[in-house]
Amino acid sequence: MEIRALLDRMTHEDTRREVEDFVAEQGITSFDEIAEVIATSDDGQVVRSACRAFSMLAAGDEVYLEATRHPHATVRQVAASMFRGEQALRYAGELLPVLADEDHYVRREALWAFGTMGPDVLPLLHETRRTAKGAVRRGALAGIVEVAGPDALSQQDRKMIERYIQVKIEEEMYGTEEMHLCGGWYAIRTEDQNAVLGVCGLKDPTPVTKILGGSAWNNDHHAWAKEGEHVRCARVYVTGSWDGWTLVFGEPFAHGTRSVPEICAVLSAVFGEAHYYGMSCGDGWTAWCIAEGGEVVRYYDASKPEDQIGELDVEDGRGLPHDWSDENEDLDDIWATEVAEELSVDPTYFEGDIEGHGVLALTQCGRTYGSPKGFLQI
Ligand SMILES: [Zn+2]
Repeated sequence: MEIRALLDRMTHEDTRREVEDFVAEQGITSFDEIAEVIATSDDGQVVRSACRAFSMLAAGDEVYLEATRHPHATVRQVAASMFRGEQALRYAGELLPVLADEDHYVRREALWAFGTMGPDVLPLLHETRRTAKGAVRRGALAGIVEVAGPDALSQQDRKMIERYIQVKIEEEMYGTEEMHLCGGWYAIRTEDQNAVLGVCGLKDPTPVTKILGGSAWNNDHHAWAKEGEHVRCARVYVTGSWDGWTLVFGEPFAHGTRSVPEICAVLSAVFGEAHYYGMSCGDGWTAWCIAEGGEVVRYYDASKPEDQIGELDVEDGRGLPHDWSDENEDLDDIWATEVAEELSVDPTYFEGDIEGHGVLALTQCGRTYGSPKGFLQI
């Protein structure tokens, strides 16, 4: 396909000029040559520009469909990223093999494509799950969870996944995978997971690995959700006992009227000690709250420093992240993970003693509206 014809169809002046410059620089005259550059160039910047040109030229659905079968993974990945939303639904059948691609990033693009197609693609995925073989059959399972969450799984698949998780829980005792921390969690001084579930109003616990629990928490927290969709408030990851602490990731008290310090105070009246920690992967937010015997001894939230209560020994000689004053200039800021490491446990790379295993449990919102969608790592 001639580049000239594609360039002439581009309506946005700036992007057309960008692509024009790139193809002139590289001496490219046909669309296929862009894929060749992506596949063969050693220069990261050139590959990135080629990927942009490849998608901005809008070469047409058929061209991109064919490119999802290109021998080079990056070409397949960019091609798969061109299919989004309900208009991609008509290509769902042809995109099924991309769900089973050997490359992780290509599979992820395909999952996002199916996730945005909406529930109308489910019959095809269920049919594929019943009749296909090998990798495509496994890809359909991932697709179903991405589109509609675990509630859409067949009874048989649910049983299979439960067995698989049990095996993984055993293996994981020795694993120290990093947990991506973004959002808030509670640390409660108890080994009694059932009591924690009860106090937090959580039901229907299902066993999970640390990776699956963290994956669900991150999925729900980062999910794009409309008002009233109850994605962040539907399920909660409660760990086994970690060095005598039970950690609660998620928002079990989302629709209540109590503030974080009030919740910690109540939890600490029941369990003796309860903490809250917050970290953000995006904007540098952090927070911690320490309550003992029904009283808050320390509360700090970088976004509401005027509300803070008390101070901690561990903060001595350290700066608080909201404080941009001159006195604070030479001090290293302290973050919730460091406070947690000192006063409870830091979940980032937890290597201490674990008793029992984690569970995902449903809040009232989860029981009413179902589990959030999104493919999760096990
Ligand atoms: Zn809710």
